[in-house]
Amino acid sequence: MDKKGILMVLSGFSGAGKGTVVKNLISKYDEYALSVSMTTRAPREGERHGVEYFFTTREEFEKTIAEEGLVEYAEYCGNYYGTPRAYVEEQLAAGKNVILEIEIQGALKIKEKFPESLLIFITPPNAAELKRRLVGRGTETLDVIEKRLSRASEESQGIEAYDYIVVNDDLMTCVDEVHRLVDDARREPVRCQEFIARIREELKDFEIHAE
Ligand code: 5GP
Repeated sequence: MDKKGILMVLSGFSGAGKGTVVKNLISKYDEYALSVSMTTRAPREGERHGVEYFFTTREEFEKTIAEEGLVEYAEYCGNYYGTPRAYVEEQLAAGKNVILEIEIQGALKIKEKFPESLLIFITPPNAAELKRRLVGRGTETLDVIEKRLSRASEESQGIEAYDYIVVNDDLMTCVDEVHRLVDDARREPVRCQEFIARIREELKDFEIHAE
């Protein structure tokens, strides 16, 4: 099949467990690469520059937009978030499935620019569980948690734009389901254009032409 990897978007409400799903996907299978986004949000305790995000100022971020250095960007709860272009292009060419862990506005832009991308929405089984996870994480103040829950309600309006929904109830089941969807997507003809072109060319040798 084609060597080029899939550009995949993993979205989900804040607190749905996307980050943990991604970490497990990457450690279990070696064909994934995670794009590190640029953001103007302040680092949370323990977050490192270049690992969770490239932390930057609004000024630098806007300069990067102007230089077309981002594949997409969006504003979320008062901060900019964006996907640096170079890494995505390099990793896709190297055959990796590139994961963009981004919110819905960015996801829609990706689908528009890259119709072969795969959009997966990760969700907890229900809203009460979402709140429980966000509070339990202990990384945000109550005020921020309320903003994020309210944002989740808005985001739920856009779920139909995604190709698949995966419920994150049991973590490893969720990880394996995401992997299976990606694996199946790689076999869809729309993502196997190099293979199709090659075998069609080879088969021409077998064509019988009338004298
Ligand atoms: P957090 O502040 O919790 O790290 O991220 C807030 C939201 O921004 C999450 O939904 C996350 O998926 C999204 N996000 C992270 N990086 C990007 C990005 O590069 N582009 C877009 N559009 N959203 C992003």
